[in-house]
Amino acid sequence: MGCVKLHILDEQYKRTELKVSYSTKELTPIFFVLNERRWILIKHIDPDGRDIIFITKAGRYQYTLQGTLMHTKTGAIVDPSKSTIGGNLGRIVDGYNKMLNSGDKNYIHQVTTLINSENVHEIDATRIYGDNSAILPGSGLTTIDDANIKARKGEGVGTRAEYGNLSNGKLSSGLGKTNFTTVAHEVQHQFDFDQGNMKDRYDKNGKPIKGNDSPAEQRAIKNEDFAREQEELERRLKY
Ligand SMILES: [Zn+2]
Repeated sequence: MGCVKLHILDEQYKRTELKVSYSTKELTPIFFVLNERRWILIKHIDPDGRDIIFITKAGRYQYTLQGTLMHTKTGAIVDPSKSTIGGNLGRIVDGYNKMLNSGDKNYIHQVTTLINSENVHEIDATRIYGDNSAILPGSGLTTIDDANIKARKGEGVGTRAEYGNLSNGKLSSGLGKTNFTTVAHEVQHQFDFDQGNMKDRYDKNGKPIKGNDSPAEQRAIKNEDFAREQEELERRLKY
């Protein structure tokens, strides 16, 4: 007998453990069994394969509540910090893991909401987009135009993320940044798109308001500042 442990975050954000026992006699080979079992269990938690999806050169990976990545077709689990499937990937996943393990109710709520959402949130880890990171409305399943129309009406939409070079360490304003602070900022945008909170991102003509004049941007900076506090970095007063 063996067992697979799954850490699940319940509604009260308390970590609970689900232990599943299995017999190795009837099922071979062992590694396939382990992956297959994990796959079935996680699929059971999220049966429609929604979630946070990392797009890599090796295919699409689902971000799990354990902070690992699972191949959406084979169910193979990879540890992003040891993986060679994408240059910036380990650093981006590290940011999400820091939020999930922060002990902060708000951060945990944001990430688990994205994991369990009916909307797909894609992160393209195949390219590094200079210094800037951005969240666009609309996953690969919807066009950006369609998603903008929905978001303006206050409807929830999926997103696609383009992360900048997190190893760079400095913003153009000269402020320090880390995996954690960058991801915390973008997760607020992902969460707001997901929950239909992005109405205030658009002006009267339906154009996105630029920079920190946008209330949506101010929320993201606030979310980022909490991570800055944890990392003992100065607050982001400049934009
Ligand atoms: Zn922003």
